[in-house]
Amino acid sequence: MNQHPKEGNNREAYYRALEPIIQELASLFDHLCAELCPSCTISCCEPCAREKGYYQDGRFEEMKAQYGFNPQKGFLGPNGCILPRLYRSKRCLYHICLRIQFSIIKESGPEGFAKFKEKINRLAEQHHIIENTYR
Ligand code: SF4
Ligand code: SF4
Repeated sequence: MNQHPKEGNNREAYYRALEPIIQELASLFDHLCAELCPSCTISCCEPCAREKGYYQDGRFEEMKAQYGFNPQKGFLGPNGCILPRLYRSKRCLYHICLRIQFSIIKESGPEGFAKFKEKINRLAEQHHIIENTYR
């Protein structure tokens, strides 16, 4: 992705194309985030402020202005990330934090986690294709 890849209609079309992927990510992550994010103390979201929400595509200032940015905690709020999933950085969308990883392994074993990771990787690949289409 270049610095300002998706302007105007192109950006709208890009977000529309991304919607099914975001919905699937939400169905995989939302219940885990609802359970784990509010009590997160070993957060790998914690460096969010330092890493500026992991944006590498020039959207950080825009997101900061629109959603607010805590100088200590970045976009991490008391109930997890305050950004709508659609607008998060790619790194955040596909990262499986340790707490989530442990929780899935506890619930479904290593095989369950391997399947989960496979799904996430497949969605990341689809995202990559869409990104290249709307670049
Ligand atoms: S995604 Fe993981 S690291 Fe981030 S707040 Fe939730 S449990 Fe913590
Ligand atoms: S998921 Fe949200 S809170 Fe966590 S690092 Fe990314 S932008 Fe920050």
